[in-house]
Amino acid sequence: MNAGRIRENLRQVEDRIAEATRRSGRAGGSVRLVAVTKRRPNDQVRALYESGARALGENYPQELWGKVESLADLGPRVRWHLIGHLQSNKVKKTLPMVAMIHAVDSLKLLRILDEAARSMENPPSVCLQVNTSGEVNKHGWEGGSILDDAESIAACRSIPIVGLMTMAAFGTDGEGARPSFVALRGVRDRLRERTGLALDELSMGMSGDFETAIEEGATLVRVGSALFEGAES
Ligand SMILES: *Cc1c(COP(=O)(O)O)cnc(C)c1O
Repeated sequence: MNAGRIRENLRQVEDRIAEATRRSGRAGGSVRLVAVTKRRPNDQVRALYESGARALGENYPQELWGKVESLADLGPRVRWHLIGHLQSNKVKKTLPMVAMIHAVDSLKLLRILDEAARSMENPPSVCLQVNTSGEVNKHGWEGGSILDDAESIAACRSIPIVGLMTMAAFGTDGEGARPSFVALRGVRDRLRERTGLALDELSMGMSGDFETAIEEGATLVRVGSALFEGAES
């Protein structure tokens, strides 16, 4: 395992984030990196942590649970983010482990989270997932349909709803992804008006398109493969 390569990759991604932020005329530090560690072995995750990554993203609740346990010695400075689909029967166990849940994809799940958060002192924040690409295999509210649920969303007062999340169409590059990012920002602006929630966070952008996402207002980019290139050797 090549820890030096991981460190170098992280620096490069951080530099690219800073550059895209500056180029977009946005304030330094307004975009945060979630380092996606799904399917990566623990030694690679440790190398990433030792290089300075603190917000770590996992897709699958069960894999998250395993990593939280086997990497517990890294301590409370690790902030785990669940970026994939959460099944309602996994809510109770997952909630106390994470700082943020990015992909709340239905009103039903949001209500379950809201109920569970009632008994927590520090519940995690959540983003609501919108399917902006129209692909049938993507989770989330279909485009603007989330606006129909504005009232019900605003009624969930225990779980902090901090923004929206999307994934661009599979196989698109930066420019191909741009319409998805523009759409998410537009839906956010309208949902903000209807709910009175600030919805400051836009979780959008992955290895192939995070700079475009930043240009369109991303505050959280979820980057995996770019951090681990060449790490196996
Ligand atoms: C895997 C994954 C990412 C990271 O993708 P990369 O292309 O490896 O950067 C981001 N978001 C979600 C939801 C993912 O599943």
